[in-house]
Amino acid sequence: VQRLVFLGPPGAGKGTQAAALAQVLGIKHLSTGEILRSHVAAGTPLGREAEGFMTAGQLVPDRLVLAMLEAELRAPAASAGFLLDGFPRTLAQAEALDGLAPLDRVIFFDIGEGTLLERLTQRRHCPQCGLVYNLVTKPPATPGRCDQDGTPLVQRSDDREDAVRTRLRVYQEQTAPLLEFYTRQGRLRRLDANGPVEVVATRLRAALG
Ligand SMILES: [Zn+2]
Repeated sequence: VQRLVFLGPPGAGKGTQAAALAQVLGIKHLSTGEILRSHVAAGTPLGREAEGFMTAGQLVPDRLVLAMLEAELRAPAASAGFLLDGFPRTLAQAEALDGLAPLDRVIFFDIGEGTLLERLTQRRHCPQCGLVYNLVTKPPATPGRCDQDGTPLVQRSDDREDAVRTRLRVYQEQTAPLLEFYTRQGRLRRLDANGPVEVVATRLRAALG
């Protein structure tokens, strides 16, 4: 059984690596964002309660997210192990998670701020169909226009440089205590997340070995 957590800032490539690794290891890839959306869509009691907070523009409380997560962790699909991507984000969440399921390894995606800024500020999206592009890694066929409908692409305000810098700073402040927590437990491994996807995947397997 492998119980893994991926920590790292937005744009570090956690989701891509998580999906591939979970498949290789035959363990369940869990994203709290997706779990939350599926509860809301299915109208479960937890989902309805969460929706109330979301509609009011408030954060969904930890106890709801943890209750949803607990059900996933106890489900047969996670009996061979799981990989949590993007959770926990705070020390309180990490401590609660420890009570649900002790982790084997926590992988911290360590990536230069310059690389992140480059990746995140190159994002553009189509206001018509919602497709997301990256001017460097996934450019549209015609510069500045959506492949699907030809609509001029726009940059979201939270992908502008000053907004990205703020997001990264908030992330770092929140995560520092988490890194300390898992280092003290001897579970943290730092992964150099700079470079192409395949190179990072090779380093990741070494970090888990
Ligand atoms: Zn489009």
